[in-house]
Amino acid sequence: TKNYDYLIVGAGPFGMTFAYEAAKRGKRSLVVEKRAFIGGNTHTHVEDGITVHDFGAHIFHTDNKMVWDYVRQFAEFNGFQNQVIANYNGKLYNLPFNMNTFYQMWGTKTPDEAKAKIEEQKAAALKELGDRQPRNLEEQAISLIGTDIYKALIKGYTEKQWGRKATELPAFIIKRLPVRFIYDNNYFNHRYQGIPVGGYTQIFEHMVERADGLIDVMTNTDFFDHKDEFLAEFPKVLYTGMIDQFFDYKHGELEYRSLRFESETIDSDNYQGNAVINYTDAETPFTRQMEWRHFDGLADEGKTIITREYPQDWDRTKEAYYPVNNEKNTELYKKYVQEARENAPEVMFGGRLGKYRYFDMDQVFNDALNTVRQEFGIDDDFNFAHD
Ligand code: FAD
Repeated sequence: TKNYDYLIVGAGPFGMTFAYEAAKRGKRSLVVEKRAFIGGNTHTHVEDGITVHDFGAHIFHTDNKMVWDYVRQFAEFNGFQNQVIANYNGKLYNLPFNMNTFYQMWGTKTPDEAKAKIEEQKAAALKELGDRQPRNLEEQAISLIGTDIYKALIKGYTEKQWGRKATELPAFIIKRLPVRFIYDNNYFNHRYQGIPVGGYTQIFEHMVERADGLIDVMTNTDFFDHKDEFLAEFPKVLYTGMIDQFFDYKHGELEYRSLRFESETIDSDNYQGNAVINYTDAETPFTRQMEWRHFDGLADEGKTIITREYPQDWDRTKEAYYPVNNEKNTELYKKYVQEARENAPEVMFGGRLGKYRYFDMDQVFNDALNTVRQEFGIDDDFNFAHD
């Protein structure tokens, strides 16, 4: 057996970035991954010349130039910008809420007209509420944006996402509803955006290739099948799985929402004319439909692949996608953090499952690099110069 410096649980962006940076500093890692492939939820594969994102649309977007430079060491990025269309009972609207949406909804043409319309809608809602605070998500959303947009573009989608009526969901889920009074359908506000040409998986393959043999990856290996041996053998562990599972759920189970994906290859050059279409009514059982060729701006080629995303309840047999960060789970998570501090000081917990937070990819890369900084005592900025 080799002399490993680290055991890394999970071959997602967090684990792989740490392994790569450790290798650059001469440290050897064994990465164990329970799935059959690396890249975690960012994993992509190529089929009929089309790059398919296996766990839902992944668009890289960030204002963090360091992270943007970092990921571009491992892949060339295209200039994709997400411009989502909403389909509400057959009528189409642009997202995020902007002058195009307001025109489609009310026929307003200038920012002043649109603002007046939204104020009028909000005023009606606030009158209804009187003095009290919004008691649920529905009241909260209406008080922020009015009834028309809420009904067409928020209600059904949110109810499907959470599997509950908007009147039974807590108000805190929606804190703000950003609106733009410009004609701009670019979903994200970030300066740097794109998708790796050929997909995300290559990023992690390149990390392994460039680690000069210092990273070994074992796929189809669940840490919990060998937990005691691993912990006995490895002085240092980076764990990016579920933190409650690490402690055998001893304080109880953290809750998640799950998703189911259904893909189809269709004999068409261009099936829906856009990368992502959200279905915002309550009846269509899926929330979004992706057409992958549009993420790469591929030319028409006779075949296209689409994927529908269905939210579903989570249990231990399903993939955990979105943490449910309510009060109960936040308290529970704190207990596990305490547990980790007291009983597993040799283990670093990282990534979206280890930290029980929804993180976008740029945050995950950034956090992983911060963990590297701490572990290796680096106090200056990383320099990732590349051409
Ligand atoms: P993961 O990618 O989940 O990797 C963790 C890995 O650990 C997994 O491969 C898992 O199998 C493995 N693992 C867990 N437990 C064990 C165990 N016991 N033994 C062995 N291995 C284990 N981010 C964006 O920036 N832009 C987007 O557009 C975007 N869209 C998203 C859409 C969806 C539907 C979802 C779910 C997420 C999206 N994200 C997006 C977020 C992105 O997926 C995450 O930021 C990223 O995958 C987190 O990386 P990670 O390494 O923390 O976790």
